[in-house]
Amino acid sequence: MNVNCLIFLHLIFVKEDELNRQIAVFRELFQTESIHWAGYRYKPDGIDVEILVKKIEEIKSRKYKMPIVIHPDFTREEIIRYYREPVFLSKSYSNTCIAPWTSVYVLPNGDISPCSSFVAGNIKNESFKKIWNNQKFRHFRTELREKKYFPVCHRCCEFYKH
Ligand code: SF4
Repeated sequence: MNVNCLIFLHLIFVKEDELNRQIAVFRELFQTESIHWAGYRYKPDGIDVEILVKKIEEIKSRKYKMPIVIHPDFTREEIIRYYREPVFLSKSYSNTCIAPWTSVYVLPNGDISPCSSFVAGNIKNESFKKIWNNQKFRHFRTELREKKYFPVCHRCCEFYKH
């Protein structure tokens, strides 16, 4: 097996209050339940953030045969805040998500989803092009543009792509 790159992701987790806010927002805006995020419910109390920061700095300071990427590439201060603060916004990224304008998940049952727990349509029932441009999908994009982000976005990989 050829391995070209090794990527470590920061833990994806949501605390109870973040999850509850997310559920309330998605119910109100999209009349859907944010069930997928419930699977990330976790309180990272067992993580010693100071040790984590030290280990990441060690990894980044060494040279390896293949590139090693830590994503998101937070600063020392941001790592600490990411694990400790309930509402965290990074200065290293734009804190925006363009995923619903660029990509979708195609789920095994045919559902087309731009973001966990939101389904814009099903590929078995209508064309991808129709779903991409349908009223439901456009409504999602409009709400995201207006709100800038949802309660769990700061825990999502898509939030740290640019
Ligand atoms: S960043 Fe937010 S809007 Fe974008 S895919 Fe993740 S949860 Fe959805």
